Amino acid sequence: MILLKDCYYVTTHERSGVDVLVEGNRIKSIAPGIVPPAGARVIDASRHVVMPGLVNTHHHFYQTLTRNLKAVQNAKLFDWLVYLYEVWKGVDEEAVYWSSRLAMAELLKTGCTLSTDHHYLYPKGFGADLPGIQFEAASELGMRFSPTRGSMSRSKKDGGLPPDSVVQDEDTILAECEATIGRYHDSAPDAMRKVALAPCSPFSVSEDLMKRSAMLARKHGVRLHTHLAETADEDEYCVKSYCRRPLELMEDCGFLGPDVWFAHGIHFNDEELELLARTKTGVAHCPSSNMRLGSGIARVREMLNRGIPVGLAVDGSASNDSSDMLGEARQALLLQRVRYGAGGITADEVMGIASEGGARILGYEQLGRLEEGYLADIALFDVMKLEYAGSLSDPAAALLFCGYDHGADYVIVDGKLAVDKGRLAGGQEEQIRSNADRTSRRLLEKAGIAR
Ligand SMILES: [Zn+2]
Repeated sequence: MILLKDCYYVTTHERSGVDVLVEGNRIKSIAPGIVPPAGARVIDASRHVVMPGLVNTHHHFYQTLTRNLKAVQNAKLFDWLVYLYEVWKGVDEEAVYWSSRLAMAELLKTGCTLSTDHHYLYPKGFGADLPGIQFEAASELGMRFSPTRGSMSRSKKDGGLPPDSVVQDEDTILAECEATIGRYHDSAPDAMRKVALAPCSPFSVSEDLMKRSAMLARKHGVRLHTHLAETADEDEYCVKSYCRRPLELMEDCGFLGPDVWFAHGIHFNDEELELLARTKTGVAHCPSSNMRLGSGIARVREMLNRGIPVGLAVDGSASNDSSDMLGEARQALLLQRVRYGAGGITADEVMGIASEGGARILGYEQLGRLEEGYLADIALFDVMKLEYAGSLSDPAAALLFCGYDHGADYVIVDGKLAVDKGRLAGGQEEQIRSNADRTSRRLLEKAGIAR
């Protein structure tokens, strides 16, 4: 049991001075003056904004090892991909092991309690159970984890972008997808592990694999994900290769619906937004990555007006180049205003997208709000720090408008502390940092890049 005592501000209720009692993996009660039950860990929350854990709806954990590479700091998506694939083809078991821990550690420390990952790279000779390595990392760090089993089948020889050595044949992909679902997917409402299927993008798999992935996901009741409408180049590629725009292609593949979410979704036209709204298809908004690669500004304001499900995401760390979840929420707040003006989006809406919005997209109905009976995924940020002085007329919005240290003091996942006094509860931070950095150096050396 955990008792959050004298909370300075509880976001869902917009209340001060209440206590939050966590029992098992759920929020038991939110009320003033709760007497600490015997054996409960009592946390003084009198300096803290207490909010639902943030939810990250798109990432590529392995990219944490290849962030900020000088050669592609200023490249746009397709050039950036072509360069990086030559490095990523060296991703091995150790790289997945440490990059997964690194990405999850950063996410947890910035208030994220549930994340997906989109690993679509299966280099030849990678013998280990890749999702198994990631689930092991999630359970060690105490993170709720709903990764996708990604895939690529269309390499250079078929007119795609990735080298031949990192793609798989489609029968192998589908067999491994099904095995991963069978081994790891838990459909319970409080699952710590879920699996979704995610062919990488229209330019790295065939139309047939999109269709068969959708059918397989429906057969097992798991969700579907892919990159879509990220760049103008992608529109052009789809029109040239498939004689259709990206969303039309997905519609023909049966890849629309309330169980589907797309990463980015920048270049949808009005009719396409209507189609997303009608089918309740979701979008993972990735503001930092979209700015970093100069891909454009997603029409999030219009998506929300139409009732399209929207979540927030940091995207892979080679295009962000961080997994700072609270920082990402600030970027979303600011970027929509570049497109729509100062009234483009409110702090409250951004926090909603970043928590409840993301939870719904990943298929969790009892997450994303601080309510009695909801799952106890909670983040606590200290707002009695220097950078928040003078900003506390609206403490929740202060986290987005002010502040530069995005570290949470406490993060609770499924009723257990994953971050305690600003540090990973398991205490492995230096081990993760040094091993991830060493593995990154090895990966770059393998690709002939000096560091
Ligand atoms: Zn991505």
